[in-house]
Amino acid sequence: MSDSYDVIVIGGGPAGYPAAIRAAQHGLKVACIDDWQNYDGSRSFGGTCLNAGCIPSKALLESSELFHRAHEEFGVHGIKTGGVELDLAAMQKRKAGIVTQLTGGIGQLFKANKVSGMQGRGRFLGDGKVEFTDPDGKQQTLQAKHVILAAGSQPIELKSVPFDGKQVVDSWGALEFDTVPGKLGVIGAGVIGLELGSVWKRLGSEVVILEAMDTFLPMADAQIARDAQRQFKKQGLDIRLGAKVQGAKTGKSGVTLSYEDKDGTHDLKVDKVIVCVGRKPCSAGLLAEGTGVETDERGFVKVDEECRTGVQNTWAVGDLVRGPMLAHKATEEGVMVADLIAGKIAEVNYEVIPSVIYTAPEIAWVGKTEAQAKEAGIDYKVGTFPFAPNGRAKAMEQAAGMVKLIANKRDDSLIGAHVIGPMAGELISELVVAMEFQASIEDLQRTIHAHPTLAEAIHEAALAADGKALHGINK
Ligand code: FAD
Ligand code: NAD
Repeated sequence: MSDSYDVIVIGGGPAGYPAAIRAAQHGLKVACIDDWQNYDGSRSFGGTCLNAGCIPSKALLESSELFHRAHEEFGVHGIKTGGVELDLAAMQKRKAGIVTQLTGGIGQLFKANKVSGMQGRGRFLGDGKVEFTDPDGKQQTLQAKHVILAAGSQPIELKSVPFDGKQVVDSWGALEFDTVPGKLGVIGAGVIGLELGSVWKRLGSEVVILEAMDTFLPMADAQIARDAQRQFKKQGLDIRLGAKVQGAKTGKSGVTLSYEDKDGTHDLKVDKVIVCVGRKPCSAGLLAEGTGVETDERGFVKVDEECRTGVQNTWAVGDLVRGPMLAHKATEEGVMVADLIAGKIAEVNYEVIPSVIYTAPEIAWVGKTEAQAKEAGIDYKVGTFPFAPNGRAKAMEQAAGMVKLIANKRDDSLIGAHVIGPMAGELISELVVAMEFQASIEDLQRTIHAHPTLAEAIHEAALAADGKALHGINK
């Protein structure tokens, strides 16, 4: 294998591997270096997303939701289930099987596209040079015309509650529990806290979520966040806001967390703790001295809108750089950079990146919240429609939640869309396409939505924006 390439990608997650594939599709000679190592010592491409993030979490969310429904909700449909039992080992095996299939698929895609997949560590030396260290410690220096940095992110550790890999774990550890914790403490009511808290609650844990901020889900539209908080409370998720964790004492029988809130200091005894207070970029050790690539005070590699680092032919994408830490954002950046390297026109529309929280109900949004529209001084109108009168949602016995659309009054354009309810993560795609095509509320009103579908709630919300909803009270 020659050690000279058109493109070397450091990182084989959802930012790096699609960048490598697209660059190879352009006829470039590409290597993708990745150092992911699993708990059992095996190595696989796919980064956090496929190995320890999006995919395994969604597998467990699906299984745990089915378990919960079989237990609590099938009776309403007239289905008698008798004794529903949990086989956690089988559930975890199914999850692991999905992960292995998908990560294995990347190897096949690399082969089909003639990408050299190299498992080991990469370090950017500057001037197109990359130091590669294989798992045995053998080093070589590779040369490339372009280098794409795609090293991703890792969990933030709290000094006051350090990970021990057994009782105090990060999100990856929380995906691997082999027994259901009796009482589970979750630090951080962000996306991971809510998704993984939901998984273990559905499987039988008593879950307490401690959140430092006073506001619940501040990144979501406030009306949707209020609805979500109400529904999670109803499910029995104990979410304590304004709770500042000060320390943890671990012992044989569990962990005692101490935290402070407006009422004073408290102790909380739990069996296990998940710390999910955000993630930080993996830039430490990635860059040799003097490469010229700059990082900000939090370690994010500085880039412009096109993911150029400021050092010629050196790019950075995904969780390693500014913007939401989302797999689809990472992929779009990787693909954009590969296209730009090949001299094609490419861009990422940062205004239209959907977010989805895969709880039940799901929460999904794109574009501006109502508060952001107000802050931007936009003269806006709002159309909301609940799932309660929606025939499909009723048939599914999942009629909680709503659709909320925000449009600019001046030109009727859709500027924000928010869904809380069944399949919100799927429903949001229509609204992402609408925003990408700069659709107006009238466009949505005139678009025929099949009956009976959940998407009819989108249609009705668009009608409601102009006081024309057919199946609800317009306000
Ligand atoms: P990563 O996926 O972190 O990949 C980076 C890769 O680079 C890793 O394999 C790493 O080992 C490797 N690497 C790092 N340094 C080096 C080096 N020096 N040399 C070689 N290799 C290196 N996002 C969503 O959009 N939807 C979801 O549902 C979702 N669920 C999530 C659930 C959990 C529990 C977590 C933790 C995250 C989730 N995310 C989700 C976020 C998503 O996983 C990340 O946004 C995404 O993985 C970022 O992709 P990336 O390629 O930038 O980084
Ligand atoms: P997050 O930023 O979503 O939430 C972290 C939460 O922890 C925040 O609410 C924060 O206020 C709180 N917090 C911070 N310090 C705290 C402290 N000391 N005590 C108590 N609370 C504290 O981060 P996350 O949940 O760790 O997720 C990391 C990233 O992974 C996110 O950026 C997210 O986009 C991504 N992710 C996405 C999905 C998805 O798309 N469905 C799923 C999981 C993770």
